[in-house]
Amino acid sequence: MGQPTKSFLTLPIAALCVATIVVVLASLFVGAREVDRVALAGQQTTIAHAVNQHGLAHARELRLMTVWDEAYDNVTAVDLDWMDKYLGSYLNEVLGYDRLYVISGDDKPLYGSIGGAKGTVGMPLPPSVEKLVQAARSPKPDVPADHIQTTPITLDNGKTVEHRSIVDVLPIDGKPASVIASTVLPDHGSQRDGSGQPSLIIAMTNLDDTEINRIGNDFGFRGLHWVQDGTRPGYDSAAIRSIDGTPVGALAWQEHRPGREFLSRAAPGLLLALLPIAAIAYLLLAWGNRQVKQLMESEAHAKRAARTDSLTELPNLVALRENFERLLDEAKRGGSTLAVISIDIDRFKAINDAFGHAVGDAVLKACAVRLKRMMPENGCLSRPDGDSFVMLAPAVDAPAAAELTSDIIAALSEPFDLDSGTRVFIAASIGYALAPLDGVTVGELTRRAELALRKAKADAEGEAVAFTRDMDAEVTFRLMLETALRAAIADGSIDVMYQPVMDASGQRVLGVEALARWTDSDLGPISPVVFIPLAEETGLIQHIGELVLRRAVEDCKAWPGVLVAVNVSASQIHHGDIVEVVREALEDSQLPPERLEIEITESVLLADEKRANEQMRGLQSLGVRIALDDFGTGYSSLQYLSRFGFDKLKIDRSFIDGAGDPAGSSVVLASIIRLGQDLKMTITAEGVETEAQRRWLQTSGCNELQGYLFSRPLTRADMSAFIASRRAEAKAVAS
Ligand code: C2E
Ligand code: CA
Ligand code: CA
Repeated sequence: MGQPTKSFLTLPIAALCVATIVVVLASLFVGAREVDRVALAGQQTTIAHAVNQHGLAHARELRLMTVWDEAYDNVTAVDLDWMDKYLGSYLNEVLGYDRLYVISGDDKPLYGSIGGAKGTVGMPLPPSVEKLVQAARSPKPDVPADHIQTTPITLDNGKTVEHRSIVDVLPIDGKPASVIASTVLPDHGSQRDGSGQPSLIIAMTNLDDTEINRIGNDFGFRGLHWVQDGTRPGYDSAAIRSIDGTPVGALAWQEHRPGREFLSRAAPGLLLALLPIAAIAYLLLAWGNRQVKQLMESEAHAKRAARTDSLTELPNLVALRENFERLLDEAKRGGSTLAVISIDIDRFKAINDAFGHAVGDAVLKACAVRLKRMMPENGCLSRPDGDSFVMLAPAVDAPAAAELTSDIIAALSEPFDLDSGTRVFIAASIGYALAPLDGVTVGELTRRAELALRKAKADAEGEAVAFTRDMDAEVTFRLMLETALRAAIADGSIDVMYQPVMDASGQRVLGVEALARWTDSDLGPISPVVFIPLAEETGLIQHIGELVLRRAVEDCKAWPGVLVAVNVSASQIHHGDIVEVVREALEDSQLPPERLEIEITESVLLADEKRANEQMRGLQSLGVRIALDDFGTGYSSLQYLSRFGFDKLKIDRSFIDGAGDPAGSSVVLASIIRLGQDLKMTITAEGVETEAQRRWLQTSGCNELQGYLFSRPLTRADMSAFIASRRAEAKAVAS
């Protein structure tokens, strides 16, 4: 899932780096080629220039011979001997000229010598030189400035004449030669005025490969030589032309490419420089990648944490919803079933209280492990809160769900041997619903699995209960009942009845227990077993509780010497200010506090032990007595309960059935009574229905008895009559 984000950054950066390096290298190459192109053009210009310079240098030398009175005189006089000695021979031997010609002022060939041989009078010029001669004669010669050398000469008579040399490269007898046409002038001219057209000396040097090579060396061209077609590997070349454009030949020289050389020299350094840059870029990239990865990881971690229960590391409520939507969607599309299983550990609070929270946590973790092992493939197990788990099981139908849930119950009832060495037993209740049979939305299925769980908790703790349609009806019924109960409280139609509490002989009325009664105009009488839990769930118990209390303390004023017991629910202790409510009721009724008894059950202690203790102490400090009701139905041991300082113990009527039955529970009952006596508590037995039970309880040491044997709950008036008749009987017996 992180991959696209990663490459989304990596690719462009890597591409940018590669592109940068490619651009740098490419521009170096292009630059080097451009340098080479410019260099070649320069070399080609230079080579022509070099050949020309060679000619000009010869022309400067020749000027010594051609601006000279003696030469002027002897050439004008056509002195063959002199010309042979100083021109044909001397210039060949000393200055290396290959041919020499002399032309008269009126352009007649006067003399010619080839290769230093004896000259010939009137030797004609090679035809290719004609144009050069014309240029030398022309007042305004059409030649480039670097081919012409002019020198003003001031004669002794004050007259100034101009010496001129023109230099060119020409094919002579098919071979390239450097040719100079130079005017012959006097240098003093005392008797000669140098007027008229001067004679010309034409001097030629063959540009053979030796000569050309020397020129090349002077100008930095290696291996310079003449070529036919101009191309040769490793060599560059340039065409050499005479001034008028006649091709003379092509010169080739060893390539000199400064760009390429620069590249080959700079490349290692460049690579060395690029390598660390590439390395740094790579490191930066890797670092950036790591940052991005870390960022994504921490984001993923946060996302996971927000969806994970930190204790069991199972998906939490948020994740459950997401998985639920997804799995339900998949089931719908695949036309298959999905089981929604709500699992709740029974009385988990008691485990926490008895063993401490660390053990509680360890048990939850161990449960998670066991449940996970049982989860069908592709399912989801989550711990949405506290001591409950939800398992979503895809492709599990009704029979499979029944089997799976009973397996879960069995698995969780196996003992947990914790690392701490503690062995803990738990039981779990399960409610489950199936998609699509019981619902097609997450909300519907969750609610129905919860309804089934509530049913399991209420009726079948430690079992798995499948959702059935009548549970919905039950919910509807409860809703209707709640509305009716609110109305009953508002119009004061909640009644109170009293059941007498007798001494062990069953003769004397020691007290009465106030019991709430409700008769609805449509539904008829509704049992407190039904409406009290409803009132507890809806918070209406605060009103009912206060109503019963106020009525009871008021009514009992009519029965002097008789105690009145009032039932108080856990939620009254934990959510209301019960001490204040009782104090006010006593104050308003002016009933002595010692005539009031408050009955609470163990469930009060389960929720918040500290607060329960505080409230009990508060009530006792008012002078009110506290009785532990329904003893034996909860999980707590009497030893544990003794810590709370109850004044009285009311043994639940489920134990009384076996009173006196030698095979039954009377052994347990006897030990409870004995323990209560040891703890100095008054012991009351509830639900005494037979004389045999009464007798057994009396002999076992029970202090007080309550049950249908003596009387069912009575109205206030009937209770007054009951008390009066009992007193009358007692009097009759006594007298
Ligand atoms: P409880 O506090 O244990 O009250 C005793 C219940 O046992 C009463 O049921 C009473 O009628 C019944 N009983 C008494 N003797 C016998 C007998 O010999 N055999 C049988 N089978 N039953 C007998 P009731 O009045 O239906 O009350 C049921 C429960 O409702 C009470 O149990 C109490 O927990 C709750 N309750 C009743 N009134 C109030 C009230 O005002 N406030 C609170 N918080 N709870 C109340
Ligand atoms: Ca009671
Ligand atoms: Ca009871």
